[in-house]
Amino acid sequence: MEQERFDLPQLGQDPSRTYRLGIMGGTFDPIHNGHLVAAEQAYDDLNLDLVVFMPAGSPAFKQGKKIASGEDRYAMTLLATSDNPHFVASRFEVDRPGITYTSETLRLLKEHYPQNVELYFITGADAIADIVRWNNSASIAENATLVGATRPGYNLDKAAGAIDSSGIDFHVIYLEVPALAISSSYLRERVAKGQSLRYLTPDSVTGYLHKHQLYGAKAGKYAR
Ligand code: NAP
Repeated sequence: MEQERFDLPQLGQDPSRTYRLGIMGGTFDPIHNGHLVAAEQAYDDLNLDLVVFMPAGSPAFKQGKKIASGEDRYAMTLLATSDNPHFVASRFEVDRPGITYTSETLRLLKEHYPQNVELYFITGADAIADIVRWNNSASIAENATLVGATRPGYNLDKAAGAIDSSGIDFHVIYLEVPALAISSSYLRERVAKGQSLRYLTPDSVTGYLHKHQLYGAKAGKYAR
């Protein structure tokens, strides 16, 4: 696959400075305001230059589970991020065939960008707690700083214990994000019951998932 032709933002042009690129990794089934607030908080707190949202094409730990297509999840991510000048949605993982391994994504991004671009891989702290089971996790540690977004009151012991006992030199930053009380599964349940998603995800996402009748949505209901 020729990743150079892909929709990655340009970064690293000025060799006299360092750039910080956030990679927002997730299934985004569907994307919601918790993800958007987490990415905005990472942008501010970590002084990132840009955040690229990358829906996983075929998430490694969701094989055999029913999820919306990569095309639909990408479309909703694009809609949700389109009004923020420092957010970008990318097809980088959706278009890569096979299981989506983060190690491969980060390796390709490292190849793509000049050395003055640092990578920050942002995802849920629950997912990071499992990182030692991810494919080639040692190379993830070499290529990126991990950013684990948590709900307030989340117990970090599991994630910290897993990282500490891994013997791998992961660099992990945790961010507490109150808006992560929202979850994709909560949105899917509400859609299936015909309940409103207003204020939980951008209206454009609500419109899209009703128009395409995802998650048991009835076309037209709460489509605005
Ligand atoms: P998940 O297990 O569905 O998510 C675990 C928790 O983290 C959920 O509460 C989820 O909430 C939250 N979450 C997920 N992405 C988030 C984000 N970007 N920001 C804030 N919270 C987030 O995780 P997943 O979606 O399958 O995987 C997450 C990322 O890790 C993806 O990029 C995936 O490719 C990567 N991953 C890689 C491997 C591997 O390479 N072998 C294995 C596992 C995961 P919501 O459900 O509300 O999002």
